[in-house]
Amino acid sequence: MGIDQQGLLARLIRELVRLPGIGQKTAQRLAFHILKTEPEEALRLAEAIRAVKEGLAFCRQCHNIAEGDLCEFCLDPKRDRSKILVVEEPSTLYAIERSGGFRGLYHVLLGSLSPLDGIGPSDIRAEDLVNRLKDGGIQEVILATSPTIEGEATAIYLTKLMKPYGVRVTRIAYGIPVGMDLEYADEVTLIKSIEGRRDL
Ligand SMILES: [Zn+2]
Repeated sequence: MGIDQQGLLARLIRELVRLPGIGQKTAQRLAFHILKTEPEEALRLAEAIRAVKEGLAFCRQCHNIAEGDLCEFCLDPKRDRSKILVVEEPSTLYAIERSGGFRGLYHVLLGSLSPLDGIGPSDIRAEDLVNRLKDGGIQEVILATSPTIEGEATAIYLTKLMKPYGVRVTRIAYGIPVGMDLEYADEVTLIKSIEGRRDL
């Protein structure tokens, strides 16, 4: 009989390796770390994961992270409701929010077009964005997808999709290297990129 006869450690490694950016080696290192650590500390991690899954969901309107039906930004009456800034992931939304350069509403796609990975238009929240335009009151949609191949393809697709609605569509300018993920950009760069946006 082996030490890990029920395969418990192997099971943990299998789960860890599913996380983005975690390879087999890192997963093994993390699993052994969890094994060695005090029970309370390891269970705190497990509990934090459970709390996130039970207490949070996605906003019905913009798909940002929300504790209830709508997120804090959609609920905030002080936000400018004539502008929607479109991002791929909530992490980018919070980076832009920290910059303080935008006071409108958001739309989170929860992904970007990537035909090679089998991610098509129906896998991102594009139709929901169009539905928000149909409701009226939106004057400008700012596309803040990353300057990657996927982000650019997504911006082009969304621009075509929104054309019939006569809304101003702008793309943020970039002072950052092409290929860089927006969530890693510093705040000043993000403010400048929103200020320097151009019409599409
Ligand atoms: Zn929302």
